Amino acid sequence: MGNVSFDPAAALASAKHEFGEHGGVNMSIEASTTFTVMAAATMPEIFAGRRTVDRDGCFLYARHFNPTVWTLGRELAALEDAEAGYCCASGMAAIAATLLQLCDAGDHVVASSAVYGGTHALLAEFLPAKAGVTATFVPIDDLAAVEAAIGPRTRVLFTETVANPTLVVADLPALAAIAHRHGVALVVDNTFCPVIVTPTRHGADVVVHSLTKFINGASDLVAGAILGKAELIGRLMDLHTGALMLLGPTMDPRAAFEVSMRLPHLPLRIAEHSRRAQILCERLAALDVPVVYPGLPTHPQHALLARLANPGYGAGGLFTIDLGDRARAYRFMEVLQNEHRFGFMAVSLGYAETLMSCSASSTSSELDDAALAAAGIGAGLVRISIGYTGALEDRWAQLHAALVTVGMLGAP
Ligand code: PLP
Repeated sequence: MGNVSFDPAAALASAKHEFGEHGGVNMSIEASTTFTVMAAATMPEIFAGRRTVDRDGCFLYARHFNPTVWTLGRELAALEDAEAGYCCASGMAAIAATLLQLCDAGDHVVASSAVYGGTHALLAEFLPAKAGVTATFVPIDDLAAVEAAIGPRTRVLFTETVANPTLVVADLPALAAIAHRHGVALVVDNTFCPVIVTPTRHGADVVVHSLTKFINGASDLVAGAILGKAELIGRLMDLHTGALMLLGPTMDPRAAFEVSMRLPHLPLRIAEHSRRAQILCERLAALDVPVVYPGLPTHPQHALLARLANPGYGAGGLFTIDLGDRARAYRFMEVLQNEHRFGFMAVSLGYAETLMSCSASSTSSELDDAALAAAGIGAGLVRISIGYTGALEDRWAQLHAALVTVGMLGAP
């Protein structure tokens, strides 16, 4: 599986550009929820799937196909080198719909032990109780454990490319080989590293995204996407049986327009997030601060990420610092926000400003103590999504000063 020739920026640029219907340079927002047919007999043809958007330009009802949402799906499919895509109201909607489409009651998922807390709760609690779909969590860097966890009813191997919040990098080609040997679909959440890694190039069958994060990049709307084979997207959207149709997690066309407007500068933003994270982390590591960042040679999967990554976009905008205990982690974030205006104490990531949260007591709080320990999420772990505002040297001075204040570094 090669990576050599894929450039996500070029792929995005070559995605079919939609012109506004009045000749505007931007696509129009199609605000209709329902669409006309010229002959009554066309309607049952659409319901039966014999007339489609791609082939016949047939739209029906916006929970199914809205032209603006469909366009964004095509752009994101180009970004992820996937055949097709569709957009959802949130990242969780994308993940839940995908899992429910691929699994029936009695089926089983093998999942990384380090995934976003909401995904963990969905797999550990919600799906077993509500749908009879069970999950086994394994360290995703232990390939023998991954393979051993696969059973006769396993349908999905689920991982994040770079894990929230541990930043463990998944060996996608190896995981794809294991999954495909057992007839299992590899589903990859690529929220942490759009543009940087293209999971379909490494064997992923389905890519899911929380667009709420880097892809939209403005922390002003919630959105998600599913990218994969046209056959799967077609099944998800089947009018009579599809998870997207029946659960209804559709994206609003106004949100689709907003996200689409921000795609052209996504590669630039990602490169700058990564550039800043790399410089700050190298300086932290040089001072022996316990920093984890896949761009550092000391990261266990540094070489793996370098192998998987599309060149030119760095190792991403997220790093963690282990402050040892919760009290010190809280103090550190308060000093950074309230004294230095370094960033915000807030969940989420991929924003222009820096966002900081203590994972064990926030976005991973769905995990119990055993699951936190298995995932390697300590009580004092602070996840930092580095922004690109302000002068980098000022940011470094603020970060350094806060580490001095909480006793992680001696005074200069
Ligand atoms: N996947 C990852 C890796 C996340 O970090 C999150 C949210 O934090 C989600 C999925 C869920 O996304 P959303 O909040 O858009 O539903």
